[in-house]
Amino acid sequence: MRREREEYFLAFSRAGAVSEYLKFTYENAGSELTPFAGLVKLNACRRKLLDLQLIGVDRKGVSFGNLSVRDGATNSFYITGSATGAVPELKPADCARVVSYNFEENWVRYEGTAIPSSESMTHAAVYASDVKVGAVIHCHDSQLWAALLNHAPTTSKAVEYGTPEMAHEVMHLFKSTDVQHGKIFVMGGHGGGIVAFGRDLEEAFAVLIHERQRRI
Ligand SMILES: [Zn+2]
Repeated sequence: MRREREEYFLAFSRAGAVSEYLKFTYENAGSELTPFAGLVKLNACRRKLLDLQLIGVDRKGVSFGNLSVRDGATNSFYITGSATGAVPELKPADCARVVSYNFEENWVRYEGTAIPSSESMTHAAVYASDVKVGAVIHCHDSQLWAALLNHAPTTSKAVEYGTPEMAHEVMHLFKSTDVQHGKIFVMGGHGGGIVAFGRDLEEAFAVLIHERQRRI
């Protein structure tokens, strides 16, 4: 089994100045993904999100938004691979299965040929916080973001996505707010960043649409 370890660096700013570099490490466990239960529903949900431009590719050609589904009753999950925003229909090769992670070390281990997003840690924190969550949607919606900011559970503005601090912020929301009930939160330090979740993708999507209809 081929194993490889790659690293890249995320620069993030605090108080307007790039002051710290954080290392997100992902380690490939080698195996290719076979079609998994939930891929058809994942594509159906993705199509709706693409139509609404809540996920996709921005003007600079950078993909945004990602979806994941828990693998049965485990803490592993399937997540859309990074840089897949322009792909209309995902194949197993466009997804990664995150099999373990470490928040402190900002490290994930995954199976598959696609690279998991650094936002995988945010998804992992949701699954780790509530065993009833079966699916997570991270999308970008600047209007909904502005409407929900500090009205719905919101992660600290000082915390960037893809950092150990974000994972801790998410877990803190589950302990200190009613996020488990509302099933949606705002990433205060990640402009436009919204996370909705539910027992499955249908529920997570319904939460998102309900909030859009109510707030914007
Ligand atoms: Zn994002």
